[in-house]
Amino acid sequence: MAEHVLVAGGAGYVGAHACKALARAGYVPVTFDNLATGWEAAVKFGPFVRGDLMDRAAVDAAMAAWRPVAVMHFAARSLVGESMRDPGAYWRENVGGALNLIEASVAAGVGEFVFSSTCATYGDQDGVLLDEDTPQRPINAYGASKLAIEQMLGNFGESHGLRSVIFRYFNVAGADPDGEVGEKHEPETHLIPLMLEAVEGKRGALTVFGSDYGTADGTCVRDYVHVADLAEAHVRGLRWLRDGRGSRVFCLGTGTGYSVREVIEHARVVTNRAVPVVEGARRAGDAAALVCGSARARDELGWEPQRGLGEMIRDAWRWSQSGGY
Ligand code: UDP
Repeated sequence: MAEHVLVAGGAGYVGAHACKALARAGYVPVTFDNLATGWEAAVKFGPFVRGDLMDRAAVDAAMAAWRPVAVMHFAARSLVGESMRDPGAYWRENVGGALNLIEASVAAGVGEFVFSSTCATYGDQDGVLLDEDTPQRPINAYGASKLAIEQMLGNFGESHGLRSVIFRYFNVAGADPDGEVGEKHEPETHLIPLMLEAVEGKRGALTVFGSDYGTADGTCVRDYVHVADLAEAHVRGLRWLRDGRGSRVFCLGTGTGYSVREVIEHARVVTNRAVPVVEGARRAGDAAALVCGSARARDELGWEPQRGLGEMIRDAWRWSQSGGY
C-alpha cells in the first residue's frame, strides 16, 4: 500500500506543488489545511482534511485516520509586511500551530518531519551569500517565528528523536509547468504575480519598494527559485529522512540574485509587453539582498534547480492567463 504523508498547508502555493511531486513519487499526500490562505481547488493529488493546526484534537484525529509515515509542514503566515503590522499573529499561529503539529507527530509515532523555513531567518547580512552556516538574525516577525520553529525541531530531535529536514527557501516563484496548480494569494503581495497583473491591466502600476538600497541598481536583490524545483527538493528531503540519514538543514535557492528592476526587465521580455511601474518607499522589514550561496542541497540531496527566472515568469504568466483556480 502506498505510504501517506500528512501535508499541513497542502492547499497553499508551495504545499500544492509539493503534493503533486509526492504523488508522482508514489506517496499519497493527505492535505491538512484550514483554507485561511489556501484553496480547496488546489487539492488535486490526494485526500483533503479541512482543519486548523491551532486545534490539537483535529491534528490528532488526522494522524489517527491516515497514519502518515511522515509530515510536511507548509502551513504558515508568510508575509514580511503583515508580520511587521501584526507580529502577534505570527507568534501565535506560526509557532503555536507548529508546536501542535510537532507534538501530535511525536504522540502518533511519526518520526520524520519536513519543514518549510525561510531565508528571512537570516535578516540583513550586507551582501554576503547565505548558506546553512550563516548566523540567523531575523529582522521581521515572520523570520523570527520560523527561526523559533527551527529551534523547536532541534529540541524535539534531542528529546524525542524526531528527525527533521529544514528547508530554508529563498524567493519561490512560477507555477506548475503542466498548469495543474499555481500561485494564488488573496490579497496578492508578491512581486511576480503583482507585476503580471499590472501587465494585464488587472491592477494599476507595480510599486517598486525602495530604490535607495546599497545594491547595484538601488532595488532589493532576491534569489528566485522555481516552485516545481522546490517541490522536487521536498521529495528528496523525504527520501533522505526515510533512508535514515538524520536531521539536516538545506538552503534552497539558485545562487543567482536578481534586483526588482531586473525581474521587471525579464517580465517585459517574456510577455513582450510594457510593465507599468512607479517608484515607492521601502517596505518595512525588507533586507537589501538575500542570495543563496549554498551547494549543500546539490552535493548531498543531488538537487539542482532546472529552471531560471525566465521560466518562472513564463509559467506564472501562463497560469495567470489561464485564469487560475
Ligand atoms: N516588491 C516590490 N513591489 C511589490 C512587491 C514586492 O518592489 O509590489 C519587492 C520587495 O520589496 C522584495 C521583492 O520585491 O524586494 C520580493 O518581494 P516578495 O514580496 O515577492 O517576496 P519576499 O522577498 O517578501 O519573500
